[in-house]
Amino acid sequence: MLDARVIRTLKSILGSENVVTAKEDLLCYSFDATAGMPEHAPDVLVTPHSTEQVSAVMKTAARHRIPVYPRGAGTNLSGGTIPLRGGLVLSTLKMNKIIEIDPENLIAVVQPGVVIQHLNEAVAPYGLLYPPDPGSMATATMGGSVAECSGGLRGLKYGVTRDYVMGLEVVLASGEAVRFGGKTVKNVTAYDMVRLFTGSEGTLGIITEITVRLIPAPPARVTMSAIFKDLTGAGRSIEGIIKNKVIPATMEIMDRVTMETVENHARVGLPIQAEAILLIEVDGIPEVVQKEASIVQEVVAKNGGEVRVAANDQERDRLWAARREALPALAQKRPTTILEDATVPRSKITEMLLAIQEIGRRYNLIIGTFGHAGDGNLHPTILTDARDREEMERVHKAVDEIFKTAISLGGTLSGEHGIGLAKSRYLPWEIGTGGVNVLKKIKEALDPQCLLNPGKMVACGEDQK
Ligand SMILES: Cc1cc2nc3c(=O)[nH]c(=O)nc-3n(C[C@H](O)[C@H](O)[C@H](O)COP(=O)(O)OP(=O)(O)OC[C@H]3O[C@@H](n4cnc5c(N)ncnc54)[C@H](O)[C@@H]3O)c2cc1C
Repeated sequence: MLDARVIRTLKSILGSENVVTAKEDLLCYSFDATAGMPEHAPDVLVTPHSTEQVSAVMKTAARHRIPVYPRGAGTNLSGGTIPLRGGLVLSTLKMNKIIEIDPENLIAVVQPGVVIQHLNEAVAPYGLLYPPDPGSMATATMGGSVAECSGGLRGLKYGVTRDYVMGLEVVLASGEAVRFGGKTVKNVTAYDMVRLFTGSEGTLGIITEITVRLIPAPPARVTMSAIFKDLTGAGRSIEGIIKNKVIPATMEIMDRVTMETVENHARVGLPIQAEAILLIEVDGIPEVVQKEASIVQEVVAKNGGEVRVAANDQERDRLWAARREALPALAQKRPTTILEDATVPRSKITEMLLAIQEIGRRYNLIIGTFGHAGDGNLHPTILTDARDREEMERVHKAVDEIFKTAISLGGTLSGEHGIGLAKSRYLPWEIGTGGVNVLKKIKEALDPQCLLNPGKMVACGEDQK
């Protein structure tokens, strides 16, 4: 419980309506979209409207040594927003203004609570696009996605969130607001602090304003599905398409378990007798797009796949809806859905796909795999029941093996979902204890009292004892 004086101070900063202390309301903030995590309710929820308010809240928290957990829509998949030590959840959902759209300079400036899809709807009339598009873009916020450095379905050609963040305003643990980067295309002033805060998972500062780069929306696109009798054909096609110098905007995979589940859930006409499907979209100038589509078709045919081209917008929308349904559909099969984020160099994708299947068989677990296969970014999704202790032990062992395999193939712990609470114990496997110590030094320098999102990514304060 927080001291009544602290609550009074918060109410005087924010107004009573923006300070929530009712237990039943706080329960909703004790978890996020990550399954199998411990639940902890905060002592208080605050919903500021401005940088000045965030700054004043942070100064109060620093004075009283209260942990602060920044939160956007809570859709992260790494336990990133769970208030492990109680304290204060700071929701950015009321900081949801698009401050500026500058079509001449291809730039937008937003508050952190703007929903990603709303930004895209706002820039579309200018013929512009903000490319990062996580599957959750209809609810996820710009602040949360910058803090996670989210990827998405267009990552193969267009990269991830960090490739679009040009400038940030951040409130530090002390309550001081600082700005880094800005609107210029070139900016090499001092350390690249924009990159440091992008992907910092709420552990280094609270992002209060974001300047992003936009691109001209591609004028044409062709969407195809490629159906395979085996995973090897799908993996070879991914490698072959890139080797042939075609970089599709998206190249998504769904395995048989995922397809069957989506089909049972939504009846979208997926080929459930097949072993895998790739959803491939090429975009750009019409003539180039047609050429690239025919190269894709040739490569897929050579690898034993069958290509279907979406004939119209309805067919295209149906295919993408099927892919976006993957996680919600899988989540209905068993009570607990543990979605992982193992990523390997593209040339190792077939090996990784086969290894995940083998691990599933060995531990007798249902694992559906889908994801951004063109980036080597797979989401093996374990369908389980957190109440079944024996099964959960097998799940933990399988997850350990999945990450060990990814790293041994030259891959990484996270292609896009971050480290958070879920994967902090694996960090030394990838960056070694030396690397972890560097992260700790950065954390200590910027947040010496360990107030910002403690317990996530790297240990700080009491957690180190
Ligand atoms: C169905 C589904 C599909 C998904 N698909 C994808 C996908 O394709 N690609 C992908 O990368 N992710 C995906 N995700 C994960 C998630 O949606 C993204 O990471 C998203 O960008 C998080 O945004 P959020 O607003 O929900 O952030 P939250 O979950 O609220 O927060 C995420 C992290 O950011 C911190 N944070 C939030 N706001 C701020 C701020 N203003 N300042 C500092 N720190 C802050 C939090 O403390 C937390 O550590 C998916 C999730 C779901 C449920």
